[in-house]
Amino acid sequence: MTLNLKYGILGVLLLALLTGCATTTSPTGRRQYLALSDSQLDQMGARAFSEMKMQQPVGKDARQNAYVQCVVEALVKQLPTELRSVPWEVAVFVDDTPNAFALPGGKVGVHTGIFKVAENQDQLAAVLGHEIGHVYARHSNERASRQVATSTGIQVLGALAGVRYGQTGADLVTQGGGMAVQLGILLPFSRVQETEADDIGQRLMAQAGFDPRQAALLWQNMIAETAGSGRTPQLLSTHPDPQNRIQELQKAAPSLMPVYEAERRAGNVPQCGN
Ligand SMILES: [Zn+2]
Repeated sequence: MTLNLKYGILGVLLLALLTGCATTTSPTGRRQYLALSDSQLDQMGARAFSEMKMQQPVGKDARQNAYVQCVVEALVKQLPTELRSVPWEVAVFVDDTPNAFALPGGKVGVHTGIFKVAENQDQLAAVLGHEIGHVYARHSNERASRQVATSTGIQVLGALAGVRYGQTGADLVTQGGGMAVQLGILLPFSRVQETEADDIGQRLMAQAGFDPRQAALLWQNMIAETAGSGRTPQLLSTHPDPQNRIQELQKAAPSLMPVYEAERRAGNVPQCGN
């Protein structure tokens, strides 16, 4: 292929991509640049999640599954309608590291190791509220969009063009597991996104009737676990400056107490167990 033709194709792909770009506002009022649609991200999230379920042992403990499910449901109830209506799904992975994540498309994963640091339902809600906050604020889309904007790789553009022009789910599956990773949906988030997910998560907690003061305690437990095991859990290594975020969460808790108390008075009292 001649160089001109190559650039020609690249140009068409770029144009296709750019015409689909949108500037939106995050739930905390931050301007965002998004190159992909929600449904594209949902599709990628769902696919990454099914790959994970095939590759990693999934816990069969019914009580544990119900516990996580209950906390997720309570938090999801506080989201806008369009987000509530995606098929939310929960999996508990048998893995001793204290980790959890949420992917676009409503896919929530929890490692069994999380139960070592989340001592009660409020602390579990703190982790999951944070992770769901990333989904609510479209952080994966932001990240993937940046990746696309800075990438010169024609495969990325090609993959996206394929998705844009009505590629089917089956096509995507045969394309191999690389795309979710390639587009950055499984990569760490930025500092700004982390802070935003903390804000959103703690508010979701209070609105769902979970004690927002427990968020700071969860991260303290996470740090203690690090000191005990001698290795840094992924949730800490990918989430910058733990001491500072604990302070921020402590500072924000009093202003969320009225929300929490009003919800409790109104009968919004989650009983997920533990
Ligand atoms: Zn995070």
